[in-house]
Amino acid sequence: MFKKLRKRIGIDLGTSNSLVWLAGTGVVLNEPTVVAITVDDGRVVAVGNEAKEMLGRTPGNIMATRPMRDGVIADYRITEVMLSFFIDRVVGRNRIFKPEVMICVPSGVTQVERRAVLDATLSAGANIAYLIEEPLAAAIGAKIPIAQASGHMIVDVGGGSTEAAVISLGGVVVHKSARVAGNKLDEAIANYIKKKYNLIIGERMSETIKMTVGDAMPGQEKLVDGNQKLVMETGKLKIEKQLFSNFQSPQQVSSIPQPVSKMEVRGRDTVSGLPRMVELTSREIAEAITPILHQIIVVVKSVLEETPPELAADIIDKGIVMAGGTSLLRNFDKLMTQMTGVVCHVAEDPLLCVVRGTGVALENIELYKRSVGRK
Ligand code: ADP
Ligand code: MG
Repeated sequence: MFKKLRKRIGIDLGTSNSLVWLAGTGVVLNEPTVVAITVDDGRVVAVGNEAKEMLGRTPGNIMATRPMRDGVIADYRITEVMLSFFIDRVVGRNRIFKPEVMICVPSGVTQVERRAVLDATLSAGANIAYLIEEPLAAAIGAKIPIAQASGHMIVDVGGGSTEAAVISLGGVVVHKSARVAGNKLDEAIANYIKKKYNLIIGERMSETIKMTVGDAMPGQEKLVDGNQKLVMETGKLKIEKQLFSNFQSPQQVSSIPQPVSKMEVRGRDTVSGLPRMVELTSREIAEAITPILHQIIVVVKSVLEETPPELAADIIDKGIVMAGGTSLLRNFDKLMTQMTGVVCHVAEDPLLCVVRGTGVALENIELYKRSVGRK
């Protein structure tokens, strides 16, 4: 009877976003991994969305931080506060029945760090704490049948880190993780704009640019998302998006110049110190982010190179599955396909794969026992 009253929750502690899954319900919380603390005594003033609003806008005595900056835990105390906050939100403060918690951490995390996360989860109010490796959680969440005696490859490109792994028989066979992902793309965009236009932009503006006009291979698509105006690259002609919506196939479009989306960007002039605006095209963004995208793809390639031949053959058959928020970058799957020679596709709801996989593993703990650590 107690088993029913005890809630079971899965937590994806990501560098950008933290998500919580309640067994039997699904995703119940999805907030940025940001905590606002007071500078002098380290008191936590806000967590999640509220804290993210404060990033770059805090008065002198408050600091908004990302406790999981590069795929590792930069600050345990803050991480524990954050975990308590999430667990409180989902379970309520009244803890007669402490929840069972499964938490997912990047697999680059060391044994010591793992133990620390389990401890933090227990002190945050869990009855039992389980740990699952990120590639496994991502694969389960992407609906990959991980128990099969067949090779599957999952690439999770998040905010702070990229994790590429080959999975077979419920375990990770080859794995690489690197601290290069979405945040590095944002930095590259900010640096590019600073160098080319003498304009300083904030972290959030940079991310917005990436999500709005970011493109790994501009000119590969006939349509551009969003409501921005389109420009013909070769002329000064401006055309509204609707004009393109009649085109049926890429072949039809290939004979005319490709549309490239553009966006107005605001920042501060490095020389005058005053606010200024420039217009950026997705082609410029591609120029800025391509080196970083190549670094990510190198990680994937190095995993492929170390994959035993039988499993490699399976992966060529089935392709590579991409998850994580950065897999949503326009045409990133196309670039990855072109550079690895293996077909890549983006999982359904890539931002939710890890939390879903963590939750599903918890709901079917008997099935996944071998893949999970516990305390
Ligand atoms: P993490 O697991 O590290 O928290 P997520 O999987 O939540 O990371 O992904 C967050 C990253 O994905 C951020 O860098 C964010 O800017 C990026 N991202 C989210 N949506 C998009 C998009 N549509 N295009 C490009 N990048 C995106
Ligand atoms: Mg993640």
